[in-house]
Amino acid sequence: MKIDNYAVFGQPISHSKSPRIHKLFAEQTGQLMDYTPQEVPAETFAATTSRFFADGGKGLNCTVPLKELAWQYADQLTERARQAKAVNTLFRQADDSILGDNTDGIGLLNDLTINHGITLKDAEILILGAGGATRGIVPPLLEQQPSRLVIVNRNLSKAHAIAEDFTELGAVQACDYANLKDRQFDLIINATSASLSGDLPPLPADLLKAGGSCYDLAYANQATAFVTWGLANKAAHSLDGLGMLVEQAAEAFFIWRGVRPQTSPVISLLNAERALNNTN
Ligand code: NDP
Repeated sequence: MKIDNYAVFGQPISHSKSPRIHKLFAEQTGQLMDYTPQEVPAETFAATTSRFFADGGKGLNCTVPLKELAWQYADQLTERARQAKAVNTLFRQADDSILGDNTDGIGLLNDLTINHGITLKDAEILILGAGGATRGIVPPLLEQQPSRLVIVNRNLSKAHAIAEDFTELGAVQACDYANLKDRQFDLIINATSASLSGDLPPLPADLLKAGGSCYDLAYANQATAFVTWGLANKAAHSLDGLGMLVEQAAEAFFIWRGVRPQTSPVISLLNAERALNNTN
């Protein structure tokens, strides 16, 4: 029987958990598919992607630094990918045209609301950072009708640009870190890449309301600096992005295969493996 080919392109890519996640999804749902990681620099992305699809590839995930290039590459875009100006999932359709989607935002939303029961309606939400990931998560967060959504970034113009791009969906405020003093939020989402280098954005004390939660899009074998900050500030939940990673992968899997995998056994397994690694 023919095996369908999928891949994840990025640079670096060796650390990616996506091949493992999709293998677990395929086993769970009985899908005959292969999913391989491939180191692809931005310069060769278009040529490598065209070859992948010409050779019969069915679908691709794209990660750093390729999401904007994938957005440009796609023949058609879903509405959420158009809004995000970034694509993490490419899909070869029946007529061979390439559809671009962005599943990062729905991945975060599912992890926050379904897996952890965090209420977003009427919540005051702060997003740290104004990069590609923030563009992907703003639309689904606005759909949940928070009472306030604020983006803080070192480079304030990037935060303003996102706020302006999404005005048709809802009000987003932009500010810089100095303006966070004396403000409080129910949910603080770290969408900076600071955790990847062990850093923490400059956050004032008392930024988190009592009973509030923290979510770091980044994930690592140990608690990230921001997850540690959340725990120190008595967050009800202080989570990293492993659950989001599995949830965004499940959305891509559904787009490709038309079958929705169960995410909770995969998240539990990856968390158990992580805990085991940390004790060894
Ligand atoms: P980008 O490079 O597009 O943006 C990075 C952002 O981080 C910028 O706003 C930058 O600010 C800010 N930043 C970097 N270092 C610091 C610092 N020390 N202090 C304050 N701000 C800082 O990255 P992405 O948006 O693509 O990714 C952001 C994070 O989200 C990464 O950690 C990535 O791994 C994670 N991610 C996780 C996913 C998941 O499934 N769990 C999915 C997608 C992303 P400035 O503009 O001022 O330079």
